[in-house]
Amino acid sequence: MVTSRVLKARKRIALVAHDYKKNDLIEWAEFNKAVLARHELIATGTTGRLLEEKLDRPVKQVLSGPLGGDQQIGSMIAEGLIDVLIFFWDPMEAQPHDPDVKALLRLAIVWNIPVANDRATSDFLMTSPLMHQEYEAVIPDYSGYVKRKV
Ligand code: PGA
Repeated sequence: MVTSRVLKARKRIALVAHDYKKNDLIEWAEFNKAVLARHELIATGTTGRLLEEKLDRPVKQVLSGPLGGDQQIGSMIAEGLIDVLIFFWDPMEAQPHDPDVKALLRLAIVWNIPVANDRATSDFLMTSPLMHQEYEAVIPDYSGYVKRKV
């Protein structure tokens, strides 16, 4: 049984950046300000505050990542409340919340949402025509798993 989810033209974009990647994300967001203006933005606490200041527009904020924000974003993905994830994680530093980082990346794949982890991929995503139109995303079939005999 194949199920799907329709992503509307106005996407709900989650943004998260680790501390050494925040400048990168802010610069990127400023460069893509016009495209981002057409979508709803949700971010972890500190990333969201910086984005709001730089873009001069509201950004919905959950808790700071290490305080549970990554898990909140992950749970929103599982609930179908996030359409796209832009997550600039730091490949050079261990994080106190590494398990949460892994969990967030995992849930994005579980629910087949578009994910970008660096500026180049984020640029490709933002310039995709699919960003501005409805898109039917296939949700992998987990019915066998859910109904498994244990
Ligand atoms: P922050 O969280 O935006 O609150 O710094 C980012 C993260 O997940 O580390």
